Amino acid sequence: MKIGIQTQTPQFFPDLCDVVRLFFGEGSAVADGEPCDATLRHTHVEADGLWLERCELSGGEPIACERRAQAVHGGLTEKRLLKRVVKLCCYDLMKRLTGRQPPWGALTGIRPTRLLYAQMEAGDSLEQAERALRDTFDLSQEKAALLREIIVSQRGIVERAPQDVDVYVGIPFCTTRCAYCSFSSGEIGDGHLVEPYLCALFDEIDAARALMDEAGLRLRAVYVGGGTPTALTAVQLARLLARVTRAFPGARELTVEAGRPDTLDADKLRALRDAGVGRISINPQTMNDATLQAIGRAHTARDICEAFALARSLGFDNVNMDVIAALPGETPDDFLRTLEQIRDLAPESLTVHTLAVKRSSRLHERGYRPTGEEDARRMVDMGLQAAHGMGMRAYYLYRQKYMAGNLENVGYALPGCACAYNVDIMEETTSILALGAGGISKRVQEDAQLRIRRAPNVSNIEQYIARVGEMAQRKRALFLEDTL
Ligand code: SF4
Repeated sequence: MKIGIQTQTPQFFPDLCDVVRLFFGEGSAVADGEPCDATLRHTHVEADGLWLERCELSGGEPIACERRAQAVHGGLTEKRLLKRVVKLCCYDLMKRLTGRQPPWGALTGIRPTRLLYAQMEAGDSLEQAERALRDTFDLSQEKAALLREIIVSQRGIVERAPQDVDVYVGIPFCTTRCAYCSFSSGEIGDGHLVEPYLCALFDEIDAARALMDEAGLRLRAVYVGGGTPTALTAVQLARLLARVTRAFPGARELTVEAGRPDTLDADKLRALRDAGVGRISINPQTMNDATLQAIGRAHTARDICEAFALARSLGFDNVNMDVIAALPGETPDDFLRTLEQIRDLAPESLTVHTLAVKRSSRLHERGYRPTGEEDARRMVDMGLQAAHGMGMRAYYLYRQKYMAGNLENVGYALPGCACAYNVDIMEETTSILALGAGGISKRVQEDAQLRIRRAPNVSNIEQYIARVGEMAQRKRALFLEDTL
């Protein structure tokens, strides 16, 4: 089904499209004038202090829905509230048309926990905030319960300290490119870019240290991600970590993505351990060899088990594993087998992603589109049951565009094993100094209202090497602007 969208408030055209996609999937919302099966007309009127929104669908049996709301004037609040009522009006129409309630109701944003926190900051208890979210956005009971679980898990982790900062160090190299990957990471190839990249990165690390001292920033967590940091040699890894820990001592946690088991060996794991890395990720995505091959991962399920056993034998006691629900060709039974094997390995945390087919991925280039919404939901639910069965609780969540079934990514962890960096980046409560190609630094400021400003590094590796001084300067402007 393709729906053409006409609206009197063109700034909300993307939001109307988001709502249509909740019900009919990718490619279902098109601009007015493009070929379509039906046309949705949205009108907006303000009279007697009220906004009146009307959405009407023509092309088959005509149907219409209306919403009224108190008109509000002034800046961001006006925009946010008007956007909400426009989306809800469109949601009412789509729900009436299809008779379906999407699991996240009318919510289309990346960080639904933020809405709960906002309600609680306005004085609601957690239970009241959850009820308000369900009533306003038609959120399902299961997803509301999941959000509540996350808020409870985050107690003692979420902190708002304006001078705190997390440091992210990006290593944008991988052995092969996964078919679903949308990151800017390059295949490591013969490795000729690694040394120049590390050289540039070390300069940026030194500049970040100096900036932290100058701006009075206090270190919270360090996260080395990518890419696949363990695609480096053991010697390069040891040099990198020595530089990182010397520049940023005393982090409350130091995590390294050791994502691909084919990049791991005893020397590299020892280098991580000796540098004080407390948490690593070894990511199967699936334990199905045929799928691993189809999605471009150069390893088998057995490699995962061996890498995991090696990490355990070397003393790693906080290991995360990532899986992806709704990978191409996988059924709920396949996914269940993956979860059962992970349960046998018994990691300390499990991240259950839902496949997102982004435009820059090879899957998208090949024309693959997520299918089987119902199966995706079952798999995501299986992930939750498996995590709970292992004694874990959900502790962070985010949603993305182009996800199978409009679902979510959820991090689960055993008590005491949650990764503060993941919470910080998702809840946007802590500033981030992001170093390396593709990193996006973020400054979180809370004065009269929450303000988040960003400074991106270039993604291209050669460009990053050539322009690293400029990247450091962007961060200085971001963090010192008020005093410059
Ligand atoms: S391991 Fe991650 S960054 Fe590397 S290719 Fe796969 S998805 Fe992309």
